[in-house]
Amino acid sequence: MKIILLGPPGAGKGTQAQFIIENLGIPQISTGDMFRATVASGSSLGSKLKEIMDSGSLVSDEIVIEVVKERISQPDCSGGFLFDGFPRTISQAEVLDIFLDSMKMNIRATISLDVEDFILEDRLIKRGKTSGRLDDQNINKIRNRFKEYNKKTLPLINYYKSLNKFYSISGTGTIDEIRDKLVNMINQLKLND
Ligand code: ADP
Repeated sequence: MKIILLGPPGAGKGTQAQFIIENLGIPQISTGDMFRATVASGSSLGSKLKEIMDSGSLVSDEIVIEVVKERISQPDCSGGFLFDGFPRTISQAEVLDIFLDSMKMNIRATISLDVEDFILEDRLIKRGKTSGRLDDQNINKIRNRFKEYNKKTLPLINYYKSLNKFYSISGTGTIDEIRDKLVNMINQLKLND
């Protein structure tokens, strides 16, 4: 099963991804985590990425796509995977579809976690106090990420709706409640296969 978890910064994608990958036994592909690992490696690409990420802007489609293609070509992805934080632009989604098609694969579902902005801001500021992430520690950077999300990522909803692959659930409530809703939704998808 190949699934995309969609949602604004702070929606809980990373938290919920853990439950889904355990439930389905598939790897999680978080482009944010991959880029943070590149930053930590201290490479020259890492220092470029750090600047972009710290400001709350998006990394270029070209870099993102290269990293993702490399990752999903690995053997552990042949049975499925969960994207968290990718695709974030229409062009990333289009290139992904062409690439998956060439490997005789396709996305089963895109599930969006819906949370209101004021709750997201609160969650991110709290996370910034413990995560050490600079992009979580400044309200202007956080708002820039929302702006990027609304402008570049939200159009993906219509993209996946037009392919009949779009699902959404509320991302507010307890972590367990959201997990149960997600797991039920995925079980339903499996039943329909
Ligand atoms: P968030 O909590 O904001 O959703 P992530 O941990 O997923 O953040 O990603 C952190 C940063 O990494 C983003 O703000 C962006 O700069 C970069 N990034 C991650 N994934 C992508 C992507 N698919 N396209 C462009 N930039 C990305």
